[in-house]
Amino acid sequence: MDINLLQKTLDDFNQPKFRFNQILKNYFKGIFGSFDSMTDLPKQLREYLDKNLSLYSVKQNKVVSDQYTQKALLELKDGQKIETVLMDYDDWLTVCVSSQVGCPMNCSFCATGKMGLKRNLTAEEIVDQVLFWNNVLFKRHCEEQSDEAIPYVGRVVVMGMGEPFLNWDNLIEALQIINSPEGLNLGARKISVSTSGIADKIIDFANLDTQINLAVSLHSANQKTRESIMPVAKMFSLDELKKACEIYTQKTNRQIFFEYALMKGINDSPKDIDLVSEFIGSNKLFYLNLIPLNPVKDGMEPSSEQKFKEFESELTRRRMPFSVRRSFGQELNAACGQLVIQNNI
Ligand code: SAH
Ligand code: SF4
Repeated sequence: MDINLLQKTLDDFNQPKFRFNQILKNYFKGIFGSFDSMTDLPKQLREYLDKNLSLYSVKQNKVVSDQYTQKALLELKDGQKIETVLMDYDDWLTVCVSSQVGCPMNCSFCATGKMGLKRNLTAEEIVDQVLFWNNVLFKRHCEEQSDEAIPYVGRVVVMGMGEPFLNWDNLIEALQIINSPEGLNLGARKISVSTSGIADKIIDFANLDTQINLAVSLHSANQKTRESIMPVAKMFSLDELKKACEIYTQKTNRQIFFEYALMKGINDSPKDIDLVSEFIGSNKLFYLNLIPLNPVKDGMEPSSEQKFKEFESELTRRRMPFSVRRSFGQELNAACGQLVIQNNI
């Protein structure tokens, strides 16, 4: 919901001051499908609000699901579409949100990158992806007439479509709303942001002094290779990226998670193990997430199981701080890097 517009709409309808907070509270509960269902408001006001304001800036177009993952195609007010994913295989229900329609970064292994950038998302559109899922969970809970507690999103990762650090102002506003006790009230440690490596923004992020987790898509510790699969490496070299990450860890004393998807013949050789070990081993707060590459159209080929195991055992032998992150949702094209707007999702 556009919170500024809410204030204006209430002023236009000569409402007392307390209505604003009352409606915000309702909104962030995520259980209402429209203003009309907020029965703690006078009927006339509900009608006026439904006529002049949208409760959500995103509308469900389609949802597909498998055992652990659900992916929604959402339509925005201008007709643009984005994807968001709900994951249920952990202690917490986790939502992966998009930060842009498409992405300008053009990484060669990522489906979103092949779309180009259509536009930035507003803070409201980022937040509403989480509320959308809370609303889905609530409706399902009611349909099932379950006696259990109402399920809700407990973790948010900004790892959907787009490069979040290129939509800085709206990202920060959205994160504040998601984190704020008056907003979605999710603890900062339950929120993660992933960047392809916009070095100056990593420093700005450190200066925000939050407990929000940071992930960086590394994918290669070889400058030439990284440039060939991630054009961002031409803007910010590995050295610059590393320096920014060092400033981040010094300032925040928090870990950085480096994402590394194994691609056949690209970043899975013994030399690559040397380079990535050198990179990760240089700072005790650097941590590696090794990921099997998810297949995308016209993308790279994943390394073989055998190669993956070899890479893994060599990192273990070297006592590198790392873990393997298996991803779910591949069948739905809902896994990392597979989000793209097609005519049929
Ligand atoms: N633009 C940001 C965040 C969105 S991408 C970034 O690049 O970090 C979310 C994650 O998916 C990133 O870690 C990215 O490196 C990873 N990713 C992209 N394509 C992938 C693929 N085909 N297989 C596995 N992970 C992929
Ligand atoms: Fe954009 Fe991230 Fe995909 Fe690269 S990996 S194209 S930065 S969404």
